[in-house]
Amino acid sequence: MRYLPTSIRFAPFALCFIGAHALCLLMLPSRSALVSYPFLIVAPSLALGACFWRARAEVRALRMPWVLLGAGLFLWILGIALSAWEDIFQQIPESIAWFSDFSYFLYAVPILLAIASVSNHQRIPFFVWMDGIQAVVTAYLAYITIFSVVPFSGHALAPISASVLVLTYNVENGLLAVAATLRLLVQPRNAGRRFYEILCGYLWVYAIVAGLYNHWASVSDGHATMDVIVDIPFLLLSATCLTRPRNAADTDTAEWKRPLAVIIENVSPIFYTLALLALSIVLMREHFYVGTVGIFTALVVYTIRTTTLQSRLVRTQQELRDARDRLEKIALTDALTNTANRRCFDQTLTLEWNRAARTQRPLGVLLIDIDHFKKLNDRYGHPAGDKCLVAVAAALQGALPRGGDLLARYGGEEFAAILPATDEDGARRVAAKMLSAIHALRIRNETPLGDFATVSIGVAVSESAGVGSAHQIVEAADQALYRAKDAGRNRIEAFVPRDYQGSGST
Ligand code: GH3
Ligand code: MG
Ligand code: MG
Repeated sequence: MRYLPTSIRFAPFALCFIGAHALCLLMLPSRSALVSYPFLIVAPSLALGACFWRARAEVRALRMPWVLLGAGLFLWILGIALSAWEDIFQQIPESIAWFSDFSYFLYAVPILLAIASVSNHQRIPFFVWMDGIQAVVTAYLAYITIFSVVPFSGHALAPISASVLVLTYNVENGLLAVAATLRLLVQPRNAGRRFYEILCGYLWVYAIVAGLYNHWASVSDGHATMDVIVDIPFLLLSATCLTRPRNAADTDTAEWKRPLAVIIENVSPIFYTLALLALSIVLMREHFYVGTVGIFTALVVYTIRTTTLQSRLVRTQQELRDARDRLEKIALTDALTNTANRRCFDQTLTLEWNRAARTQRPLGVLLIDIDHFKKLNDRYGHPAGDKCLVAVAAALQGALPRGGDLLARYGGEEFAAILPATDEDGARRVAAKMLSAIHALRIRNETPLGDFATVSIGVAVSESAGVGSAHQIVEAADQALYRAKDAGRNRIEAFVPRDYQGSGST
């Protein structure tokens, strides 16, 4: 017994409850009303308690729909309690729609809000309240339209035909069940789905039971054993609520944006506004003030919603643009030295190559490699190597004369510079400036060349840009660098071919 789920342990109690209700009705058929009301109040109260237990057991993000379902059940309990009061103390005939019917009718509002509530990550709390107010006003006007009675107005009570009453409730219950099923169909398989499974089961059982009961009540007189079946949906809801919530870890894991889901999530607020407008216009002739309040509410809510969404859209677009710019910068920047990375170098080289071809101006490229860098790493450690790279990058950057020049980290300890509109003399001057900037850093690196870090630089200049391709100028600079290394390092070597299709000369 200890290991049985709470919902199964609840089953014997539920059966006893139904049995006791049936037994009392059989034993006291003449007092069926008195006998049934306590059961019909206790059964939904159990479901209400189970809902609130469940709301507490769930993680914060999943509580809202349970609380809304609880609010719906509370209105139902209020309805049955008012029915009892109207029936026993006021002797109001069942054919007259009064406060109990108003409460039963409103029962659908919080449940519909739970069905239409958007997923957690999209929820705007202020909108939930606005939708709530709009839904209540819509339900109020719908009630007046259907029942032709203005609640709390002191108007004389008018009887309503049993068939209209039955039809109204059946349509209401059917719509709720269908709406919950649609929501369940589009709900992803995450922790939040359990609510819609339970709600859907409950609403269908309730719609069928209420349909049978209402049909029976409209064709027979007074209370009888059929009251028992009204307990069933509430007891079923209590049992299913008491199942253990799923692991919250999978909350919102499955992303879902199928078109139907988007429509169901987003159409409901507009649906309330449209319903409110339509009902208000219908009511204008008979209840001018009520209709005016309805139209005013719909317009105010619509205006606030549109303005808020519009300003959010503008803000989101700006945030997206900023995020895109940040990402673009990250994608083109070397994280260690904060200079351009290889990708940025390649893009810029193609751009500058094409520009040089158009303007017929020379284009210079430098490849700069730190000499004996491995020794520095081995002797002083990788962090010191990283610091050296950062300092070298800054010094090389400082040696670039123009804003349009670009320094990039080309590989591990290798840098590259693009020098637009620069001839060989100019490129050599920049390379010499770089060499002395690195000397000035005096970063310790004991090598056969001396005690401080040095660099070798390969220079390539395309005097006749447009001939060959952009990567050939890099190959040429690489060859020049190779020669600088070969010739003893800590020096500049240049490669200046007539064009990059064939051979060249230094
Ligand atoms: P050479 O004078 O011929 O260029 O010799 P070298 O030691 O500089 O060249 P080699 O290619 O043998 O070694 C380059 C070293 O650079 C090896 C690698 O561990 C180091 N390196 C590459 N990237 C980084 C980095 O981001 N940080 C550090 N600390 N070291 C790096
Ligand atoms: Mg090196
Ligand atoms: Mg190298």
